[in-house]
Amino acid sequence: MTSTPPADAPDLYAVLGNPVEHSQSPFIHGEFARQTGERIDYVRVCCPLDGFAPALRRFAAEGDGVHRGRPRGCNVTVPFKFEVPRLAARLSERATLAQAANTLRFDTDGWYADNTDGVGLRRDVEHNAGMPLAGRRVLLIGAGGAAAGVLGPLLAAAPAVVTVANRTPDKAHALVQRHAGWARRHGATLNAAPLDAPGAGFDLVVNASASSLAGQAVPVPATVLRVGTLAVDLMYGPAATGFTGWAQANGAIGRDGLGMLVEQAAEAFALWRGVRPDTAPVLDALRARLSDRS
Ligand code: NAP
Repeated sequence: MTSTPPADAPDLYAVLGNPVEHSQSPFIHGEFARQTGERIDYVRVCCPLDGFAPALRRFAAEGDGVHRGRPRGCNVTVPFKFEVPRLAARLSERATLAQAANTLRFDTDGWYADNTDGVGLRRDVEHNAGMPLAGRRVLLIGAGGAAAGVLGPLLAAAPAVVTVANRTPDKAHALVQRHAGWARRHGATLNAAPLDAPGAGFDLVVNASASSLAGQAVPVPATVLRVGTLAVDLMYGPAATGFTGWAQANGAIGRDGLGMLVEQAAEAFALWRGVRPDTAPVLDALRARLSDRS
């Protein structure tokens, strides 16, 4: 049942996924809204594993059944990011390249899909961690959804080399093949390598595999690091400490995925509201909130 939302009700946004109870997105977007004075509500919507498209259409038409504001857009998380492109009317260039999207804006002439994960990682590395990527040697571990989302924006920063290493080599080769033209356009060398011999002494190592999530060992040898390498795990919380501890023990700088999480959210917020929030205080607040819980 669709009814006209009251004009004074805040616009409604959501994160759709399964599971979503753990999602920090409502907290992050709540902080952005408070900081910028934008009036929005942001909720979690858990979708059936075999029923993402109907759940998304229902949210876009009717909201969450609790809040009265008009649904204006949403984030999409695991495991549905690959389903978004076929449901959208228009895709950003980076979502097209990734073949996956994490952000939708419900425009009146059709849904617009974007993938803000990669630009979030790039901003965390370059702005928050202070490492400009141009001319750097980068190792990307993994070839799943997260790796596909970050590869295009990493290449757009014009690194010298990006090497993709994945447990299933064919998936790394396919990802490299799909991005070959994009890499050439940005003057970067792009190649695939085996996990046990990916090369040595990288400037940036990004763990976009699910090894930390699975509680498993770092899947590459420590020779990928040198003193001062920035080693980022897209995971955050206690599950990331194995990787960040390994990095520190080998003279590198370990960093978790919390900065990327906040930065990708800021990009989505800017796409929806036309205002870019200041991410630094929100990242600090999120770190404090999560450390209080552990
Ligand atoms: P996915 O699509 O399921 O892909 C998983 C990838 O990890 C595949 O490349 C897989 O290799 C590899 N893998 C799994 N277990 C491994 C192991 N024990 N050793 C080596 N490689 C292993 O998952 P995803 O969506 O890409 O997510 C990956 C990670 O990124 C998750 O931890 C997720 O939480 C995190 N993430 C964080 C953010 C953020 O904002 N911070 C955003 C997105 C994702 P095969 O191809 O051989 O199966």
